[in-house]
Amino acid sequence: MIGMTETRGSGLEVQGLEKRFGELRAVDGLSFQVGPGETVGLLGPNGAGKTTTLLCIAGLVRPSAGQVLWNGAALGPERGRRVTLISESPEVYAMLTVWEHLVFVARSCRLPDGWQRRGEDLLDRFGLLEQRDALGESLSKGMRQKTLIAASVLAGTPALLLDEPMIGLDPRGQRELRDMLQELRERGIALLISTHLLESAETICDRVVILKQGRLVAQGPVAELRERQGSGQSLEDVFLEVTQ
Ligand code: ATP
Repeated sequence: MIGMTETRGSGLEVQGLEKRFGELRAVDGLSFQVGPGETVGLLGPNGAGKTTTLLCIAGLVRPSAGQVLWNGAALGPERGRRVTLISESPEVYAMLTVWEHLVFVARSCRLPDGWQRRGEDLLDRFGLLEQRDALGESLSKGMRQKTLIAASVLAGTPALLLDEPMIGLDPRGQRELRDMLQELRERGIALLISTHLLESAETICDRVVILKQGRLVAQGPVAELRERQGSGQSLEDVFLEVTQ
C-alpha cells in the first residue's frame, strides 16, 4: 500500500463555520463532515461561499467563528499535515521539477528512506513519469494538479480539498482526474471537491453539500436528494430548486 493515510476516525468535520467580510456573511454557520475514503461535492451558485469554505478549512483564511476538526481534534498550526488544498489554478514551484517536488515533500516531512520507490510508483500511477524531470513552469494545469496530489499522497495527508478541479482540463485530463480521485478514495483519503459541474459531481461524489449565500440548503447522497425532490428529478433539478 502506497502512502500512509490514516483510515480510522471520523475524518474531517466542519462545525458552525462562519466567515464575515464586513457586513457580508460569506459562510454562515456551516457544518458538515467528510469521512475517510468519502468524496463529498461542495456545490452552490457563484458567490455561495465554496472557495471561502475551502480556504477556511485549509487555514488560509481565518474564520469569524466555528472550527475544523480532524478525527475529533481541532486543527491547529499542524493542519498542513492533515489537509491539502489544490486551488482552481494549482501552483507549483516554477524552478523545481516534478520529481524535486516529491524530494521537497519527503525532506520536509522527514520521510524514512525508501520513499523514493513509493514516489516513482506514484508518478507511474498518476501518468507523470514522462514529466519526471520537467520544470514546474512548463506543466499544464492537469500536470500541476497531479504533481500536487502525488506530493500530498506521498506525505500521507489524509484530507484533500480541490477547488474546481475539472475546469480547464480536456476530456482525457478529466477522465484521468476521475480515475485518480477513485484511487485516492480507495486509499482512504477524505475528498472535498467544489464544482459547478453537476454531472461530474454525480459520478464522482458519494454525497453533496449544497450552499446558498453561505448557508447549507441541502446535503446527502445524490440519489437520496433526487428522490426527495420527486421521481425523475436530476441533480440539476434539485440544485435549481434549493438554490432559487
Ligand atoms: P464561485 O462559484 O463564483 O467561485 P464561491 O461559491 O466560491 O463562488 P466565494 O468565492 O467563497 O464563493 O465568495 C463568497 C462571497 O464572499 C462572495 O460574495 C464574494 O464576493 C465574497 N468574498 C470572497 N472573498 C472576499 C474577500 N476577500 N473580501 C470580501 N468579500 C469576499
